Amino acid sequence: MHVSSGDSSPPKPTGFVSLVGAGPGDPGLLTMKAHALLGAADAVVYDALVNPRILHDGGVRAGAELHDVGKRGGSRSTPQDEITALLVRLAREGKRVVRLKGGDPFVFGRGSEEAQALAAAGVTFEIVPGVTAGVAAPAYAGIPVTHRGLASAVTFVTGHEDPAKSESDVDWASLARAGGTLVLYMGVKRLPGIVAALSKAGLSGDTPAAVVEWGTWPRQRTVCATLAGIVDAARDAKVTAPSITIVGQVARLRDEIAWFDRRPLSGRRIIVTRARAQASDLAARLTELGADVIEAPAIMIEAANPAPIRAALERLAEYQWVLFTSQNAVEIAWDILRAAGGDARRFAGVRVGAVGQATARALLARGIAADVIPARSTAEGLADALRDRPDVRGARVLFVKAEGAGDTLPDTLGRVGAAVDQVVAYRTVADASGARAAREALEAGSVDAITFTSASTVRFFVDAGGSADVVGEARVITMGPVTSAAARSLGFAVHAEAATATIDALVDAVVVGLR
Ligand code: SAH
Repeated sequence: MHVSSGDSSPPKPTGFVSLVGAGPGDPGLLTMKAHALLGAADAVVYDALVNPRILHDGGVRAGAELHDVGKRGGSRSTPQDEITALLVRLAREGKRVVRLKGGDPFVFGRGSEEAQALAAAGVTFEIVPGVTAGVAAPAYAGIPVTHRGLASAVTFVTGHEDPAKSESDVDWASLARAGGTLVLYMGVKRLPGIVAALSKAGLSGDTPAAVVEWGTWPRQRTVCATLAGIVDAARDAKVTAPSITIVGQVARLRDEIAWFDRRPLSGRRIIVTRARAQASDLAARLTELGADVIEAPAIMIEAANPAPIRAALERLAEYQWVLFTSQNAVEIAWDILRAAGGDARRFAGVRVGAVGQATARALLARGIAADVIPARSTAEGLADALRDRPDVRGARVLFVKAEGAGDTLPDTLGRVGAAVDQVVAYRTVADASGARAAREALEAGSVDAITFTSASTVRFFVDAGGSADVVGEARVITMGPVTSAAARSLGFAVHAEAATATIDALVDAVVVGLR
């Protein structure tokens, strides 16, 4: 442990800095170690090239401080010494700090300078390598950086320096003679000078070359030409930063190996309005097929007034049964129980029913095994599973439910002589933030399709300000006839629907619908 000297006050808990590579953009290329550190971080200090999706969906611990020290060519950025000073200060406050850098922290990222500064300041740190853009962007473009018979060496070069500078650190002439693959990390601005330097040193104008812009991001583009033609080709395609340039025979393998831009949904933007966890599967499947998915949660869960639940849980011993309508009901009731100092022992002697497996799992995670889980995961299914049991007849039953739930369960159990007390744990409301994200993308006109998985997702989308006008040219694709009917009644033109009400069928409908 590092203890600062000359100070009589007790040492603070020691902070810790992890210098972490975030990979080149695709959140799936984050390492498991990076993911775990983000989930435990007190503070995250990140650069401009870190994909915002990693910060928002990448499992950063809720409540972690986020510091944007983004550095992009031209625009104002935090000077390097201020960044290191920030890292040192956060660590001295006893925080677990993740310094998140694009690609790999030690490949042209100045991570090594930050490590030197931390070492000099006596701050404990570790290095977590990441997937570097110079390997990943070519790979996503279908270009291997080495290949038996074509290139048995690869050189990574930073091209930020001016090649015309007489005292240039890069010996372009010997790079031109070395053979193998050259991978240039730089903005396209430097490309003309570098191509001239390589040509002057004797590298053939016929050498294959490629520029990969925004490698591994959904917006990735690749431009291929010969060394002699690459500057014009990049200019014609209006390639901008960030981009990686590959020079060498391997670049011609793209014709055979290209995959990223040949997937069924490559280059397509699709909004997934989601209600429950199931729709995340949909987003993942569409992403695998190449789509740029915008997840727009249609609904959110709002906890109800806790007082009635608290009071019912105080009197739990008076009940023979307690029934939970969903995982949310379990989680909310549990939090109220814990806040009042109670725990699983309160359930001793009470039988427990769960609407389905997810609800039962949520209970089990809290040390409570459900006695009844119906095959059909609905309140009706639970009522059917309970009504013939002798221990339900005449029993006192507590039902923890969502606002607006129907009366089938209390009615059915009431008919067999049970007395059912109902408490509302939560209500489902439209999530305006999701609809806002969807609306912004739609208004920008860049969306190819929008999916609805249920009638309620359509209704909530409209409640949150969505409409046929907002959807515009984007194609509406639904889970089936019921969802389509709801969409039509709200003025949407339905373009395609899933053949069966499954995620697989909906994915098929999207692929066919966008052909
Ligand atoms: N540490 C980073 C590189 C930092 S230098 C890494 O290991 O990847 C910044 C340069 O990296 C950019 O100018 C650009 O040339 C390149 N770069 C970073 N991310 C990129 C991406 N997704 N696609 C193409 N080039 C990228």
